[in-house]
Amino acid sequence: MENHYRRMRKRFGWLMDEDGEPTGGVWNLDRENRATHSSWRRAGAPRPATPLREEPDAITRDVIEMVEREFPDHPGRAANFWLPVDRAGALRWRRSFIDERLPTFGLYEDMMAEGEPHLFHSVLSPLLNLGLLTPRECVEAAIDAYRRGAAPLNSVEGYVRQVIGWREFINGVYWFRGPEYKELNSLGATRPLPAWFRTAETPMNCLHHVLRQNLELGWNHHIQRLMVLGNFLLIAGISPQAALRWYHEMYVDGYDWVMAANVLGMSLYADGGYMATKPYAATSSYIRRMSDYCRGCRFDPAQKTGPAACPYNYLYWRFIDEHAERFARNPRMRTVVNAWLARSEANKEPVRESARAFLGEHVPV
Ligand SMILES: Cc1cc2nc3c(=O)[nH]c(=O)nc-3n(C[C@H](O)[C@H](O)[C@H](O)COP(=O)(O)OP(=O)(O)OC[C@H]3O[C@@H](n4cnc5c(N)ncnc54)[C@H](O)[C@@H]3O)c2cc1C
Ligand code: SF4
Repeated sequence: MENHYRRMRKRFGWLMDEDGEPTGGVWNLDRENRATHSSWRRAGAPRPATPLREEPDAITRDVIEMVEREFPDHPGRAANFWLPVDRAGALRWRRSFIDERLPTFGLYEDMMAEGEPHLFHSVLSPLLNLGLLTPRECVEAAIDAYRRGAAPLNSVEGYVRQVIGWREFINGVYWFRGPEYKELNSLGATRPLPAWFRTAETPMNCLHHVLRQNLELGWNHHIQRLMVLGNFLLIAGISPQAALRWYHEMYVDGYDWVMAANVLGMSLYADGGYMATKPYAATSSYIRRMSDYCRGCRFDPAQKTGPAACPYNYLYWRFIDEHAERFARNPRMRTVVNAWLARSEANKEPVRESARAFLGEHVPV
């Protein structure tokens, strides 16, 4: 991805200085883009001024009625439909992103907060994927904002990398690997998707909020998709094909080309590391640092095992236990595998027992 991204920057001359060096002297400013939930609070909890919701036109209202009539049992509610449906609306949304959210996009890119579904994200993926906007015009508008001094480099570089880096790379993986990619399951994960993924009824507060937002909007931002949903699906051992089907059904920006590599490759390591150098598996510490979900949760993120402990904690170590042999050969995972192997059996057993009890109750086979 990094090589591809640099080639694209050079090819189009985007954020490049005349001497051929990247603007700002580095290719990637991600280290400036990791503000936590508490730093957001300390900054006075800034949020976008304009709520993101389009008034539906007459055709959209007709379609909403038809969908509600014909598919009353489907998850979500068509009446919540909130997106633009034509070029004029798409341009309005692009403008509102560039003017109001891009300046702070980078800083709070990975942050999550209850009641703040999109924060400073562009929410342009459905419009890009439908062809109502082109990637080039979005990238050029962002770079123009940087040139005018209306947005800082960390935000603009971060946005440009998402679009010409990640989006194009994901597209390339899909076409390069072909249809059999969707059948991959390198970790042999076979659990069915729990029914509560379609109702949001779970005592895990992070998942409850992210799933409820998905039911309301058909959209989540990247970190919600990767570190809350994908992380859980990975460490709970859910079948990648069941997960892919769910993502397909539930997202307004879901297309085969963009779902396959994101869900199977980036999120679930089903391709055995073709896309990601290590699995995106994590304990509760990431969610705790980057969100306020843990505050309202029945589970305790500080506890490692037992009925009150956060399930991400013991499911993570169960995942390492199950795949220790495979990941011992991965240089980015070796330390964590060795830490697990160094534990005594008496220390490992409560982890296994907590995971067995949780999965039996909440993720039945
Ligand atoms: C498990 C999983 C499933 C996903 N499924 C989809 C999907 O069905 N459709 C989809 O468009 N994106 C998908 N993504 C990528 C990303 O999460 C969304 O593009 C993004 O959240 C859309 O919101 P946004 O437009 O506000 O993005 P922003 O945060 O504003 O990012 C800017 C743009 O970068 C592009 N982008 C960033 N990362 C990716 C990526 N990994 N793949 C493709 N484009 C990217 C998008 O076009 C996005 O609009 C998925 C990611 C994960 C981890
Ligand atoms: S304690 Fe665990 S389950 Fe609860 S919100 Fe935090 S990370 Fe999610």
